[in-house]
Amino acid sequence: MSALLLSGSEPTTVRFSFEVFPARTAAAALALGHAVQHLSAAGPDFISVTYGASGSTRDASLDLLRYLRSHTDALPMAHLTTVGMTEEQLRGVIAETMDAGILDFLALRGDPPKGTSESDAVVADSLSSVDLIGLIDRVREERPALSSVGRTAVAVYPNGHPLSRSRSADIEWLLAKQEAGADFGITQLFFEAEEYLSLVADARAQGLTIPILPGLMPVTTLRQLQRVASLAGRPAPRALERGLEAAGGTAPELGVAHTVGLARELLAGGAPSIHLYTFNRHEQVLAVLRELGQTTPDPLEPAVSAPIDAAR
Ligand code: FAD
Repeated sequence: MSALLLSGSEPTTVRFSFEVFPARTAAAALALGHAVQHLSAAGPDFISVTYGASGSTRDASLDLLRYLRSHTDALPMAHLTTVGMTEEQLRGVIAETMDAGILDFLALRGDPPKGTSESDAVVADSLSSVDLIGLIDRVREERPALSSVGRTAVAVYPNGHPLSRSRSADIEWLLAKQEAGADFGITQLFFEAEEYLSLVADARAQGLTIPILPGLMPVTTLRQLQRVASLAGRPAPRALERGLEAAGGTAPELGVAHTVGLARELLAGGAPSIHLYTFNRHEQVLAVLRELGQTTPDPLEPAVSAPIDAAR
């Protein structure tokens, strides 16, 4: 799962994980099948699968999780959201997911569905991520063989939750997630290492102990950069924006270079690993890992020297 990274003369360890989303067309599903073989061959800690607003991708997300479990070596992690779902419905989804052998979850409240906002009842009355952590634990406990396996992750916002009033409110909410049983956090996208490092330092000072994985995405296009800026709640770095503009809107190598620089700063600052948003492509995220010193084997070329019993 981990790899040796040479940083100067000091050997260190870099760990990583990936996020993918269910394909929307048959052609995209074929491409995704190919991409996840490459992603899995790199040896991630896990591959997480997103969940559409109000369970809109429920079946497709579970299909993809099942595919990862049975056709790759990667550990699948299910995003799960509460918006638009009753507690009973959520219990059903958690049970179905666990019964499919997927035991790791990212517990989320979820984005407001299209056409709704935070103040609409469907969103405002939803169970929170803290409620969902407890619900996942209860379903796990109903299955004695599973009660000690599987982990639950939560979302973290280096630049504050969109509704956040202050950093201290963000940290209080993060500590509530930890208190409810979260095993680790994964961050929203951001552009500057300091945004992650200062949040983690402030939260640690107030009692945060769980690992926080920084979420990074090597953007390929200007459009993706604008989307990331809106999620990050911060303007995009001017140099990256200008570079993409000058290249006519598409320049994967610029996104890779920016992500590599950010990852180096984060790892040097103590980040336990990096979580890469893949946008369902393997090329850019694997280029990032190669720049960080990680080998990224081709799944079509089996490692002939590996002992047979080393395979999972
Ligand atoms: P919760 O922790 O449950 O918070 C819910 C509510 O609590 C908020 O709406 C707000 O009212 C309040 N609140 C929380 N923090 C604060 C604060 N600091 N100050 C004031 N009020 C606060 N969405 C999807 O639909 N599907 C996905 O697959 C998905 N994957 C994601 C993966 C990651 C790594 C991240 C970071 C986000 C993801 N999201 C996804 C988006 C996420 O669902 C939204 O950001 C959602 O608005 C909040 O989810 P949460 O779990 O953080 O909410």
